[in-house]
Amino acid sequence: MTPPSPLLVLGAGVSGLSCALAARAAGATVRIWTREAPAHTTSRVAAALWFPFAVGPAQRVASWAPTAHACFCRLAASPLAQAAGVNLRETLELFPGEAPEPRWRATLEGFRAARPDELGPAHASGWVYTTPVIDMRRYLDFLVAALAERGVEIETRPCEDLDAALEACPTVVNCTGLGSRALCGDDALEAVRGQIHEIAGVSPARVRLDEERGQAVRYVVPLGDATVIGGSVEPGIESLDEDDELRRAIEADCRALAPELGEAPITSTRVGLRPCRPAIRLELETRARGRIIHNYGHGGAGVTLSWGCAREVMEMAGLPLVDDPWASPST
Ligand SMILES: Cc1cc2nc3c(=O)[nH]c(=O)nc-3n(C[C@H](O)[C@H](O)[C@H](O)COP(=O)(O)OP(=O)(O)OC[C@H]3O[C@@H](n4cnc5c(N)ncnc54)[C@H](O)[C@@H]3O)c2cc1C
Repeated sequence: MTPPSPLLVLGAGVSGLSCALAARAAGATVRIWTREAPAHTTSRVAAALWFPFAVGPAQRVASWAPTAHACFCRLAASPLAQAAGVNLRETLELFPGEAPEPRWRATLEGFRAARPDELGPAHASGWVYTTPVIDMRRYLDFLVAALAERGVEIETRPCEDLDAALEACPTVVNCTGLGSRALCGDDALEAVRGQIHEIAGVSPARVRLDEERGQAVRYVVPLGDATVIGGSVEPGIESLDEDDELRRAIEADCRALAPELGEAPITSTRVGLRPCRPAIRLELETRARGRIIHNYGHGGAGVTLSWGCAREVMEMAGLPLVDDPWASPST
């Protein structure tokens, strides 16, 4: 049997690491080149809740999102859940008026309308459901360790030219997020700033999402030993400095949303730039030297869609699909 063709993955955020692991589990030889290490990517900043937020196109998202949801549910039910930092958590999503049904309702376990006693004074309706929460303090390290166990190392090596990458390997998977603005000259990519904070030592029972501003920009995401509070959606702002005024607003809103947080202080802040695009670019480009599978522009949902997009990348690369690519090869 012919061995699968080798792959060069560009980028070590959640998109690149998921594609690399899926390809390795399928038997391909994989290299990863990245400008920044996983700890310094936008992916490390994510909240990270499974929630198809600020991302398109709707029809393709509707296929990627449930695939990734199912992967995270299997991971949460596996013995690797703790190491991966993946848990299923009950979520209360609140609305000021009548709550529209989410397009992804069929994917959500335990979906029901919120009872009147679950709504605060500012909210008229809401939904309750269970959804995966991915603790990015652990999850990227988990993916890196799974890759290392399979002999894949991450090379700090920015790619300036896709043709040069194709000389190193005839199949390149481009997961460079915002880096594709320069790498592909893609003007459709826009940075959308987000700021979140962590409160160590407290963890309410439920995720809370407040849809008061028409987008879920205020959220409380419990991680077990800490809670993430957020956030913001700031198109075109590229500063990674903490915005103090915004922090005060987030803090006030989130403490009102989850009174269990009490007076526990903020212990850290993370700021990141979402790689937003009108539509995710997941497509095959053929060049004289080889083929490039582009997989970038995941906006506010790169974690949410990661395994769904990785699966489509495997199909484009002609690699077999492996259900649980993270499962240890030695078990
Ligand atoms: C505040 C905030 C909260 C969020 N919350 C959530 C959430 O709850 N759920 C969710 O699903 N998503 C969330 N997101 C969105 C999510 O973080 C992104 O969609 C996701 O991280 C994109 O992942 P990526 O791997 O495509 O890109 P990135 O994480 O940006 O990784 C890109 C990689 O490419 C590398 N790179 C760039 N240029 C080059 C180059 N020329 N050569 C080589 N390497 C290069 C970078 O160094 C990096 O390693 C949030 C984002 C923010 C900012």
